[in-house]
Amino acid sequence: MPNTYPNYINGEWRTPASTFENRNPANTSEIVGLFAKGTAQEVNEAADAAQAALAGWAGMTAPARGALLFKVADILERKFDQLGEEMTREEGKTLPEAKGEVRRAINIFRYFGGEGSRMPGFLVPSERDRVQMFAIRKPIGVVGLITPWNFPIAIPAWKLAPALICGNTVLLKPASASPLSAWRIVEACHEAGIPKGVVNFIAGSGGTIGEALVKAGPLKAVSFTGSCEVGNWLHAEASKRRLRIQLEMGGKNPTIVLADADFNAAVENVANAAFFSTGQKCTATSRVIVEEAIYDKFLDALVARTKKLTVGDGMKPGIDIGPAVDQGALDTILKYIEIGRQEAGAPLAGGNRLTGGDYDKGYFVEPTIFAGVTENMRIAQEEIFGPVLAVMKAKDFDDAMKIANNIPFGLSASVQTSNVSRVFEFIHRMEAGLLTVNLPSAGVEYQLPFGGTKDSSFGPKEQGPAAFEFYSDYKTVYLKY
Ligand code: NAP
Repeated sequence: MPNTYPNYINGEWRTPASTFENRNPANTSEIVGLFAKGTAQEVNEAADAAQAALAGWAGMTAPARGALLFKVADILERKFDQLGEEMTREEGKTLPEAKGEVRRAINIFRYFGGEGSRMPGFLVPSERDRVQMFAIRKPIGVVGLITPWNFPIAIPAWKLAPALICGNTVLLKPASASPLSAWRIVEACHEAGIPKGVVNFIAGSGGTIGEALVKAGPLKAVSFTGSCEVGNWLHAEASKRRLRIQLEMGGKNPTIVLADADFNAAVENVANAAFFSTGQKCTATSRVIVEEAIYDKFLDALVARTKKLTVGDGMKPGIDIGPAVDQGALDTILKYIEIGRQEAGAPLAGGNRLTGGDYDKGYFVEPTIFAGVTENMRIAQEEIFGPVLAVMKAKDFDDAMKIANNIPFGLSASVQTSNVSRVFEFIHRMEAGLLTVNLPSAGVEYQLPFGGTKDSSFGPKEQGPAAFEFYSDYKTVYLKY
């Protein structure tokens, strides 16, 4: 019998009236857990509990809040192996990738725990005699956090830790496809002794909970990561109440490969960024734009490398790529492969759902490459969120930049080159929030601002010192002595 994971409201684990299943996408006969189907009433109770807990939590010193975040990190670290395995079982990414993500969540709690002793404000000289002026940070209040399935522990961590260190109280709504990793963070918060009502967890359908959450009276802000469709709806709803809002949404990220790049490293970086985590990273490369002079050679090498990638259950050693997260994701990937066939002809690698033997148990699909893709094809413009790569030819660097920027999205982008001037041209001209040079487009750390531009994002950036901009307000003081 699978475990049941209840919602957590006002410091109590609520026995659920009804539950939904969290299944392993590599083996759909395995139920990873049963999760409570949250209701609008629970959302309102949680919002009231968070409001009631706010004064006490905000009134605690920031270093004391930081000490509790350190405890959360220690608890997560004690369960490191278990958390990695659970994530692979609920989301499908390979065990090394899952453990890397757990490590990142631990580091995030330590990083923001440390910020409790810094809590950056301003202290500047006044033009007036014996006037002291400064600005301190204050929490904004009750914050709703809505997270996607693809980074089931890192994204809840990078929203929750800065929200808490700033003194806010929260309602966390995890993705229904992978709620267990977020639940483990909340369990760690409980075990660490974070006071009741400060952290509340409500699983269940986004349609039901999302609407109740955005309408909950005490709510002051919403931080959301997920699709553009839901993000845009939330933005409209939140604006009606003037809620503060932060949206991290879709992408269609390019990697530009120039003729002067370290060839083998570029092949490896593109294969990694396009296909690892089944192409389900928001920063994954889904368009590679290759300079004409090396186009054929690069394409051959990339296809050869891609054909060597092994797809399978991420729990097994030697697997490079796990399954798509669920039937809906698989259907979308297969739909776009069909669109790709019509637009660009037969794929040079992949193109099929994997079947037979253990493949029949899950949502496995071959890493797929379409070549000769042009700018306005749907597979060059629309987010697929799977292991499907569009390869495009550019005449030169300027042409590559034009193609790269011809897109409504602006999350991440990468250039592979050994020419330092081109590197800086890329940095200045690329319309994206996250840039990498001679690295995969995916693979960010937590110490710097994270987020995109154009249709990919809205509101202040996440992570690093930038996280304070969303989760706190300034209070500015002029003091005559
Ligand atoms: P999604 O369908 O938008 O879901 C994201 C979250 O929103 C889930 O918790 C979902 O709950 C919830 N939700 C659904 N409908 C809602 C509503 N009406 N009101 C409030 N919440 C609602 O996105 P996803 O499929 O989980 O994630 C994939 C997308 O996330 C991709 O577009 C990807 O690019 C994007 N992403 C972006 C970043 C970034 O940093 N820019 C990072 C990761 C992922 P349910 O699960 O219950 O439906």
